Amino acid sequence: MQTPAPVDYVRATSVADALSLLQQHGDEARLLAGGHSLLPMMKLRLARPEILVDINDLDELRGIRVDGNEIVIGAMVTHAEILNSPILFEHYPIFREAEKVIADPIVRNKGTMGGSMCQADPAEDLSAVGAALRGTVVIQNAEGRRTVPMREFHEGPYETKVADGEILVEVRYPILPGSGSAYEKVERRSGDWAVCAAGACVTISGGVFSSVGIGIGAVNAEHFTATGAEAFLVGKEPTAENIATAAQMAADSCDPSADQRGPADYKKHLAMELTKRALTRAAAAAVAVHLTKNGA
Ligand SMILES: Cc1cc2nc3c(=O)[nH]c(=O)nc-3n(C[C@H](O)[C@H](O)[C@H](O)COP(=O)(O)OP(=O)(O)OC[C@H]3O[C@@H](n4cnc5c(N)ncnc54)[C@H](O)[C@@H]3O)c2cc1C
Repeated sequence: MQTPAPVDYVRATSVADALSLLQQHGDEARLLAGGHSLLPMMKLRLARPEILVDINDLDELRGIRVDGNEIVIGAMVTHAEILNSPILFEHYPIFREAEKVIADPIVRNKGTMGGSMCQADPAEDLSAVGAALRGTVVIQNAEGRRTVPMREFHEGPYETKVADGEILVEVRYPILPGSGSAYEKVERRSGDWAVCAAGACVTISGGVFSSVGIGIGAVNAEHFTATGAEAFLVGKEPTAENIATAAQMAADSCDPSADQRGPADYKKHLAMELTKRALTRAAAAAVAVHLTKNGA
């Protein structure tokens, strides 16, 4: 079995302490969250940090809470906590649908939202969800905090706006009253990464889409989304025909590569089909919320 190269290890006692350790050790240091991506990379010698800064003791980075008109998810919140959160289920069922199909319980019990997003695998599910919900990422460094829209967070595969010496501390999601959301994913076997995944979050008012968010993973969609398809739908009725047109536009904007998960044209077809299904279910949920609210 492969073992990582020797590495120093320190447990940070606060975010300030972690930032000071990162500053002290420069690019030789790496943050350790759940370790489900970093440790396998170290075993394969694809990552060779000199020192691991463990942030598992930092309660400041935990918790899911409502803050005004936003839901805030701390960086160290685990996949399992997202899966089981009543707050997220009430406002955004898309989280539960996505988390059910992320890895397995062992990974979900330890893997974190911050680690997932910073690992920035092109098939990472929470990035597709975050794009659909138009989240905002909060990043902290020695000077203070800055925010980056989720749709500008990724700079490419495995690259994000989090620079050396910085920590992703939380992601904030605007609460959209009356919204419906859904997530669809095709994987080769249970617990695997996506061949393709698509999520949608919509609101409907006066019989037409008033807002549309689409998130697409694993098929090289720009910023994990499909802005042309979103713009097409706003102001239109949620008919099967309009949704099918938007889903095709979304698929056309993807540029998947062929790999062990399938050929490019198959993945493109999935992008269309999964976007269609996610939009259809999200729209039905939004209509149901609207009817319930109006006592129908
Ligand atoms: C078998 C398996 C199957 C998986 N399947 C899926 C799947 O289907 N879908 C999916 O989305 N994911 C999947 N994953 C990934 C899983 O979601 C992990 O949780 C995730 O990759 C990393 O989270 P972590 O907390 O373990 O991060 P770590 O491995 O600890 O860290 C990952 C990287 O992020 C950095 N980092 C961690 N936290 C922060 C922070 N707060 N600020 C800045 N940088 C930080 C670390 O330094 C490191 O570079 C799978 C993983 C495994 C092992």
